[in-house]
Amino acid sequence: MYTKKTIKDVDVAHKRVLLRVDFNCPLYEGAVVDDTRIREALPTIRYLCENDARVIIASHLGRPKGGYFESQFSMMPVAMRLIQLLGRPVTVIGGDKIAGEEALSASLALKDGQIMMLENLRFDDGEKKNDLQFVHRLASLCDLYVNDAFGAAHRAHASIAGVPEFVPAVSGLLLAKEVSTLTSMLSNPKRPFVAILGGSKVSDKIGIINNLMGIADTILVGGAMMFTFLAAQGYSVGKSKMEQDMVETAAGMLETAKKKGVDLRIPIDIKAADQFSDLAYTEAVDADSMPDDMMGLDIGPKTGRMYREVIYDAGMVFWNGPMGVFEFPSFELGTRCVAEAIADTDCVSVIGGGDSVAAIKKFNLANQVTFISTGGGASMRLLEGQKLPGVEALQDKDPAASEEE
Ligand code: ADP
Ligand code: MG
Repeated sequence: MYTKKTIKDVDVAHKRVLLRVDFNCPLYEGAVVDDTRIREALPTIRYLCENDARVIIASHLGRPKGGYFESQFSMMPVAMRLIQLLGRPVTVIGGDKIAGEEALSASLALKDGQIMMLENLRFDDGEKKNDLQFVHRLASLCDLYVNDAFGAAHRAHASIAGVPEFVPAVSGLLLAKEVSTLTSMLSNPKRPFVAILGGSKVSDKIGIINNLMGIADTILVGGAMMFTFLAAQGYSVGKSKMEQDMVETAAGMLETAKKKGVDLRIPIDIKAADQFSDLAYTEAVDADSMPDDMMGLDIGPKTGRMYREVIYDAGMVFWNGPMGVFEFPSFELGTRCVAEAIADTDCVSVIGGGDSVAAIKKFNLANQVTFISTGGGASMRLLEGQKLPGVEALQDKDPAASEEE
């Protein structure tokens, strides 16, 4: 259950609303090439405008050095795309300072339903430092703060964790949806709950595996990460990508799974290649028979079929991390197999992680998934069982109101 107030729990009319979004969109030659993040914030922006709020949008974009304006990180292309999508004017306020005098006057001149956008928050080095002066300047722009930047909610930056200390703060619709979907999946999963974990490194995913070990019924392991587990079983892994210093940890996880009765599965066969290339010579080998001079770049066909059957029987599925180097068509089959099984089942399915989301989109199956989480780092922190500073800072719902839901 989501316990934080959203924009629907408060009166937004005639208020200056500082809306923190994650418009950190990929740009090419001064234009937005993927507007997903802008589209996802549209419901919140529309709601605010239609309910007579005066909207001040703020986001970071890329990694400017901080402390000064750099044109390649300007919010201007993002604002242009937002104007097209929204069909409303949006003024970008630059000025000498982010949230300086120019922004303050502009915020006071806003009329109901109007929108302005601040320049890239990271042009001020106070953003990442959560500098109190910068926080106060941002806070002075608004009467209400709304966080819809799920993708940045794990960062204790000025516009995420600082401003809510001084202004009434509630969640936007995207943030509320993300957090409530992921937390209810963890606190109240439909069973059997199957977690499919792949990707490149055990060390990246260790927190998630540990947390899910107490929650999931079955964990299916793939990706480069599988070789650390196979090595922990005592198998040789040839030239496959693997983390020697994590082998003991992986062995410990296999033990823990046994003790806790979690069905932790690792591949029974591997698609091996003689080089890291789409044009490599390939061979499917059993997991215990990896040739010394080859590397594994995908799960094998037997494993793919086994994982598919497990997914078909699931009550709920969570997937993070590709099963192989899906970027090469020669090694996409394992990932495709998992993606298609998820798309085929009627069970609740949740996908998180940049490359896993890229994979499901590549296979054109994104619309057959129940929920795709947009926030890479933030979703991972939630899955590790951690709290997000950006969410913790928001106002709680009245207890009576949350009981009704
Ligand atoms: P996500 O972004 O979904 O969390 P990760 O970033 O952890 O996923 O991992 C994705 C990357 O892992 C992909 O670029 C993929 O090519 C790589 N990968 C998967 N399997 C292998 C493998 N067997 N060998 C090398 N790289 C792999
Ligand atoms: Mg990734």
